[in-house]
Amino acid sequence: MRRLYLADLHLEDPQGPHFRAFAGLLDAAADRLDEVYLLGDLCEVWVGDDDDGPLASALTRSLAAAASRCRVRLMHGNRDFLFGERLASGTGVELITDPHVLEADTLLAHGDAFCIDDQAYQALRATLRSPAWQQDVLGRPLADRRALAASMRAQSRDSNANKAANIMDVNAGEVARVMALHGARRLIHGHTHRPGRHVEPWGERWVLGAWERCGWALLEDDRSALHLRCFPLEGDPSAVLG
Ligand code: MN
Repeated sequence: MRRLYLADLHLEDPQGPHFRAFAGLLDAAADRLDEVYLLGDLCEVWVGDDDDGPLASALTRSLAAAASRCRVRLMHGNRDFLFGERLASGTGVELITDPHVLEADTLLAHGDAFCIDDQAYQALRATLRSPAWQQDVLGRPLADRRALAASMRAQSRDSNANKAANIMDVNAGEVARVMALHGARRLIHGHTHRPGRHVEPWGERWVLGAWERCGWALLEDDRSALHLRCFPLEGDPSAVLG
């Protein structure tokens, strides 16, 4: 099974280099690979599946084109947690839970749930992920949701919330607890913006990188070996598929 894992693209502008690289990579992956996993924060913000703005339209087209040729599975991040069933059924993409047990020994997660040392963040997360809050927000007009998203984005830009230095790392004990709970020995996650491979007492932890000056891709080959790569956003992104 050949797979591609991506996270933390924080897409905002459908005309920008990040979106172009993503669309090109996804298109090539759909032809060459078996499965694509989008492990959260694909978008900087998602205000609801009824969004008819340029990013939502371009993203919906890209996802649908890829999902018609290969399995594409989507996990919520802390930015795009309002991806819903309408997007999934409209594109053929499958929403998966966080965490998601991929196979007997591999767990997939966005990663923010492991950052339990940041208590303020976890309190906010509990609110934003609650069905009551989501139902209330999704019941508001699209224009109101866009205004809310813009104010949240402005706050996050002021606090440089996407910078690794401002995101607490995962709590090692919490990760070990969740891995033991699922009996998994390999973890793939994003969110922390600290890409790399870590050997842990329970197995190995692969961390995807955030798309900033370059893109990041984690590739699984047909022998289940993982390869973490960064690649330039300009040029042919499919070259990273090797
Ligand atoms: Mn995140």
